[in-house]
Amino acid sequence: MADAPRSQNFLTEIVERDIAAGVNGGLVVTRFPPEPNGYLHIGHAKSILLNFGLARRYGGRTHLRFDDTNPTAEDVEYVESIEADVRWLGGDWGEHLHFASDYFERMYQCAERLIREGKAFVDSQSQEAIREQRGSFERPGVNSPCRDRPAAESLDLFRRMRAGEFPDGACVLRARIDMGHENVLLRDPLLYRIRHARHHRTGDAWCIYPMYDYAHPLEDAFEGVTHSICTLEFESNRALYDWVLDNLGPWDPRPRQYEFARLALGYTVMSKRKLLQLVAEKRVSGWDDPRMPTLAGLRRRGVTPEALREFTEIIGVAKNNSVVDIGKLEYAIRGDLEGRSPRALAVLNPLPVLLETWPAGEVRELEVPWWPGEPGRGVRKVPFGRELLIEREDFSEDPPKDWKRLAPGREVRLAGGYVIRCDEVVRGEGGAVVALRCSHDPASLADPSRRAAGTLNWVHATRSASAPVRLYDRLFSVEQPDAAGDFLTVLNPDSFKLAPAARLEPALAQAEPGSRWQFLRQGYFYADPVESRPGAPVWNRTIPLKDTWASRGAAHPEREPRRPRKEPAAAAPRRSRAELRAEARASDPALAARFSRFREALELAEEEADLLAAEPATAAFFEEALAAGAPPRPAARWLANELAGLAGGRPLGSLPLSGAGFGRFVALVETGRVTPAAGKLLLSTLLERGGEPEGLVSELGLEKVTDRGAVEAAVARALETRRAEADRYRAGEKKLFGVLVGAAMKEIQGAADAALVRQVLQERLG
Ligand code: ATP
Ligand code: MG
Repeated sequence: MADAPRSQNFLTEIVERDIAAGVNGGLVVTRFPPEPNGYLHIGHAKSILLNFGLARRYGGRTHLRFDDTNPTAEDVEYVESIEADVRWLGGDWGEHLHFASDYFERMYQCAERLIREGKAFVDSQSQEAIREQRGSFERPGVNSPCRDRPAAESLDLFRRMRAGEFPDGACVLRARIDMGHENVLLRDPLLYRIRHARHHRTGDAWCIYPMYDYAHPLEDAFEGVTHSICTLEFESNRALYDWVLDNLGPWDPRPRQYEFARLALGYTVMSKRKLLQLVAEKRVSGWDDPRMPTLAGLRRRGVTPEALREFTEIIGVAKNNSVVDIGKLEYAIRGDLEGRSPRALAVLNPLPVLLETWPAGEVRELEVPWWPGEPGRGVRKVPFGRELLIEREDFSEDPPKDWKRLAPGREVRLAGGYVIRCDEVVRGEGGAVVALRCSHDPASLADPSRRAAGTLNWVHATRSASAPVRLYDRLFSVEQPDAAGDFLTVLNPDSFKLAPAARLEPALAQAEPGSRWQFLRQGYFYADPVESRPGAPVWNRTIPLKDTWASRGAAHPEREPRRPRKEPAAAAPRRSRAELRAEARASDPALAARFSRFREALELAEEEADLLAAEPATAAFFEEALAAGAPPRPAARWLANELAGLAGGRPLGSLPLSGAGFGRFVALVETGRVTPAAGKLLLSTLLERGGEPEGLVSELGLEKVTDRGAVEAAVARALETRRAEADRYRAGEKKLFGVLVGAAMKEIQGAADAALVRQVLQERLG
């Protein structure tokens, strides 16, 4: 894993407290325990990153353990895919790949011990009778008639259960706790049941299998796990977890269970059963269909592990369940791809342009940098000539005011090339626009300051290549498909479209399978690693450049009945948000006045002013921020670049952060109290749970400790007070590193960058 997680949460607090108190000798061992009965999804990614991240951050280790105690549903195919997915996310389990089934014998021996000590008994009643006696939340349970059976008799029965003398369901092993316990789970819970089923690893060696609540704590204890992290549904199971360990110890370390909120994500489903159904009914092309929330699907779509890591940082770790806005995932994906995707030229829905001023037959190879404005990062040749293609939706015969693309009589620049003007529209039968006659300005190539309305993507009409380009979108058309009765009825019919007429610049034909590109002005595209062939990539759109869901006004598309679509989907020009805003200003003098004040008095860039003056609520929010002391340009930048993305379409007024709070945040970052990177984290936390920026800075330990001396002094003090541990560490007891980190962190009141503390400590310890 490239990075340990940066942010603090209740789990890092627990771990740091344990380290500081010397619990388990400062050791941090976590585990990721999937059941091998399906492919991993983005919810699992959260758990993986959390477990591996915590251990990494505190110098510990993480085990990958297949929780294969249920013989019937499991499959080797799943084992292999899970290993590949965890590795892809950066999880490194070293030699700690474990299978719960490897502990069956030890678990069995523990069960015999419970029986001998009068803490478990074999119950020969029917399942129904046992269920009936359990009682309910209001009603205490009833003791089983087998409960006081002598230990020797239970032991004999249990051994015969193991030997296969009884059919499924004939008897069970139960813990002997308390049928009147207020926690129903502690009313003599089942520990073992009979299942005559073949297990994918142990074969027919066993016909009794342990229950999850009995097996899981033992697996943790056998492996020396210290912090056993699971999702909230297991909160009341914790009492049983502790009962099992308390009655079968002593353990060193003694594992403890902690619960966090499972991830639920908008516009998708996460239940294994539903994902399996999508695959089985061929609603998608497989587990790795690029629309699936599985890790295999996200990977196939072009999402990187780094983007998922960033996403989990943004959403943090909470103790209450909620549905996470998918806008946050998309924001993280765009942010990640932005910096790693060279800009290429492609036209998805072409409209021919004939440059009448260009000599027929002449093709000129333009040198265009892969990164606009940064020729040092590489250039390629792009053929330019008389016959070109532009995007159909980049032309309008009757454009709104402020249209920044092509229209009759208007000029645009072709990216990396010339400025052209549209002189004439060519119509086909029925009057449809079939081509444009244009002229070019020969001097404009060498003159980047030559103004034009906007910049368009383009390709040469014949010296370009066609290729399969697949446009993926959200799989469901409503935010909570699970709430829709039958989730299959709310599948998004447009989640997959081909762009059959797409044309790509020649250099893209050489794209490596698995490489990532931005098709300029369109989105991020991934050369499919499975179907691409050398010289013939197949393209998957990972994500469009802009959030088209928000601009469709379709945060809740289900409320707006879809209009029947006219023939080619993109025939009607889709107006950008900036264009819509320009229209709004044209008809509202108050908006227009605010726009020019932002432009002139505050010297904001045009796009910034455009966004901030868009509607009164945004402007008011921004002005509140200025009143609270934020300098205008940085405030505008933070608002446009970060806050808008993090808000994910929510109105600013509904955020837990006020305009004034945002202003204090900007001021804080601008004075250098926190780094910009820490600022991002701070802002996303403020949006998650509100609060005061000042207070959160210290709570999250974000204050920049620029003074290495301060860290060194803290480390020195820690080594002084923990001299014994330091000596033992030097003598080879490496697991004490965590204790020392904790001590140093405590010395400096959590205000230091943990990585710096670790580094200094490592230097000191040699
Ligand atoms: P099942 O219903 O089959 O138990 P599961 O989704 O819980 O499904 P597991 O294989 O048991 O699947 O999950 C492995 C680990 O991943 C568990 O520790 C579980 O807590 C965690 N996990 C599963 N789903 C999520 C989620 N949506 N968010 C966070 N963690 C999750
Ligand atoms: Mg589970």
